[in-house]
Parts: sequence; structure tokens; C-alpha cells
Amino acid sequence: MFQPYRFADIEVVEDAAALRLEVREFLDEWKYMWTPWERGLGWNRHDRKFSEALGAKGWIGMCWPKKYGGTERSMLERHVVIEELLAVGAPVGAHWVSDRQSGPLILKAGTETQRQKYLPEIIRGEACFCIGLSEPDAGSDLASVRTRADKVDGGWLINGRKIWTTNAHLSEYIIALLRTEGTAADRHKGLSQFVFSMNLPGITIRKIKDLTGLAHFNEVTFDDVFIDDDALIGTLGGGWAQVTAELAFERSGPDRYMTSFPLLEELVEHVNKTGSDRMIDRQIGAEFAKMAVLRQMSVSIAGMLQEGLLPNQEAAVVKDLGTDAEQRLPEVVRSILGQNSPLDKSTSLTEINAAITQTAPTFSLRGGTREIIRGIMAKGLGLR
Ligand SMILES: Cc1cc2nc3c(=O)[nH]c(=O)nc-3n(C[C@H](O)[C@H](O)[C@H](O)COP(=O)(O)OP(=O)(O)OC[C@H]3O[C@@H](n4cnc5c(N)ncnc54)[C@H](O)[C@@H]3O)c2cc1C
Repeated sequence: MFQPYRFADIEVVEDAAALRLEVREFLDEWKYMWTPWERGLGWNRHDRKFSEALGAKGWIGMCWPKKYGGTERSMLERHVVIEELLAVGAPVGAHWVSDRQSGPLILKAGTETQRQKYLPEIIRGEACFCIGLSEPDAGSDLASVRTRADKVDGGWLINGRKIWTTNAHLSEYIIALLRTEGTAADRHKGLSQFVFSMNLPGITIRKIKDLTGLAHFNEVTFDDVFIDDDALIGTLGGGWAQVTAELAFERSGPDRYMTSFPLLEELVEHVNKTGSDRMIDRQIGAEFAKMAVLRQMSVSIAGMLQEGLLPNQEAAVVKDLGTDAEQRLPEVVRSILGQNSPLDKSTSLTEINAAITQTAPTFSLRGGTREIIRGIMAKGLGLR
């Protein structure tokens, strides 16, 4: 059935302006410490001290109930904080998965014991979570997950392998999608989600380097890893529905269109110093225009999430268009600078550009590839 997208006209609430200023003042104390290269990689960079400082301000898990340490602020206020962090390339890697996905999942589907155990730690910026979905033979085709959790006395025994697990080597916890029944041929049936420590016996973590030469993601092997019964999140066999419900949180936020924003800002500073022309003005103007539209769409989704809706279709549109904009920016910079070398690090602009050029190919893979996202949109439009 044809379902037109719904992007309600929502504006970030008035009192968020004061919050924005407060976040900017906080960031002024930190941002001089980061090199342009580090700012270019901020979305993934793990800095525990920074996350703890952010936690102390009440800006992690900020929409969650006060009884777990949250401040019960709105999704729109959270949006403001995330925008400000990404705009300056702040190192959000130690808390962004837990703040965006793991915490909301535990809040929604977890037991009261799980909430009390994990949420306060996340809110203080002390708990880094990783996501155990992808496997060597289950990436886009996530339903063919093979890593198993087999029932034993008092718990479960895990065997198998996950891959591309971001920051697994730095994480305290993982939330993994595991097969608790049947085989990969059973697809969506028999998958369950579990939360457990990354320090358990039988877990081996092997780092994988990317183009930057750094190792952010990993291969994680589980050999007879024992976890207690209370590691199960939500319903046994209900893992697929739970994972897909998380997607609106993963795909719609500013982190899906602002990864390259520090580069755009640096480009404007550069052009202000070196002089512009009509062609340059037009190119930069076009990028800002895209950013403004994406922002409005993303704010609208934050408003829908606030209302308890699950705007997965709209989130897919933001991810698709946002990824395109993020990936295109290094090309725009190169065309304006009139140079071919993306790896030149002689100025702040070229240094950020080097970092973003080397990571941009991943933007359309993480959180679901471009083709998969477009498949979801096609389904939503009734074309499939
Ligand atoms: C920076 C980064 C961080 C990541 N972090 C995590 C993480 O923390 N945890 C985690 O679990 N995973 C993570 N991933 C993995 C990511 O989710 C997968 O890479 C992604 O889902 C694609 O899976 P794959 O690599 O197996 O590619 P494949 O699924 O093998 O796809 C290869 C190509 O085929 C295309 N393709 C596949 N199926 C179809 C189809 N049905 N129709 C059309 N085209 C298709 C894809 O679009 C892609 O271009 C991360 C990836 C990146 C790049």
C-alpha cells in the first residue's frame, strides 16, 4: 500500500537555545585540544574522559527517567546537544552507541534489574557498548545470523563470530543478536538479543585496521562463552522485531548527515581567508542548503520519536540523503582547492579533509548500506 512520508513541521523548542549556548561554552573548553585530524574522526573517537565530562553535565541519556539518573529532557533537546557535538568533531565514540541505541533498547525492552544496572553507568559516561549484529556471512542479510546461544543450566553458551564490531576492544558491554533456536535457514525466527560483559572468558577480540591505519572495528569470536539467564533482553525469539525497532534511532539523527560538518566549517573559514568567487559560493551554498533540509527532516523525526512513533521509513530517507551529502563534501573541497591529493595534511582544512576522505566510504555502509536503505524505502512506497 502506498504510504507517503510524513515529516511533520516541528521546530526545536525555544528553551533549547539556552541549552545550545551552554553546550557551546562547554565545548569551548575542550575543542582547542583536538587536532584537525582528530576532529575529522570525532564521530568514532573514543575518549572516556570527554564522555564522563559530558555525563557530568547530564547530556548522556538525557531523555531517560530521573530514577536512573536521566534528566527527562525531550528528544529535541537531545538533538541540539548531538548537533553541537558533531559540529565541532567532538570525540563521541565512548558513549554514542550506548546513548543512541543500547540505553533506549534496555529502557524499552530490558528488565528492571537490567535498567538499574546499565542505565546509570551509561548516563555517567562510564559504559561503552558495542553492537554485535554483523557476521562474516550476515551483513546486509542480517536474518542469516549463525552465532548461537544454546540453553544450558542457569544460562546460555555462546559460540560463533561477529565482525565489524565498532570499539569492541574498548567496550565494557555488548548487545548481541544471537540464534537461540533453529538454523540460519529459519531467518527471522529464533533470534534473541543478549547484553553481557566483554570481559568474559572465551571472548577473543581481533582488531581490524581501516584506511586511516587505525583500528576502530573488530572481529569478535565467542568460544563456549557462558552468560547468565538474566542476560536476555526482551522476549526470547523476539530479537528481530527489537532490532528493527531500534533502526529509527540509528538512522535518523544528526550523526547520519553531520559527520563531515567540521570540514564544511573549515572550508568556509579557508575561503573567507583566501577569497571566493561565484562558483565557490554556489558550491558551498548548495552544501549548506542540503544540510538545512536534512536538519529539518531529522528534527521532525526526533519529534515523532518523542511522540512514541517509529518513523523507520522517514529515517531511511534521512540516512540515504544524509550519507550522500556527507560523502560528497570531500569532493567539493578538492574541487575548490583545485588539488588532487586528498591526503595532504599541510593545513587544517586539508588535514580534516584527509581524515574524512579516508573514512567517507564507510558512511554508506554503517547502519545499513545504501542499497538496503533504498530497498526499505521501496517497500514503504509499495513498490516491492
Ligand atoms: C564504519 C562501520 C562501522 C560498523 N559498525 C558495526 C557494528 O558496530 N556492529 C555491527 O554489527 N556491524 C557494524 N558494521 C557493519 C555494517 O553494518 C555492515 O558492513 C553492513 O550491514 C553491510 O554488510 P556486509 O559488510 O556484510 O556487506 P554485504 O551485505 O556483503 O554487502 C556487500 C554489497 O552488496 C550489496 N547488497 C547486499 N545485499 C543486497 C540486496 N539484497 N540488494 C542489493 N544490494 C545488496 C550491499 O549494499 C553492498 O554494497 C559497521 C560497518 C562500518 C563500515
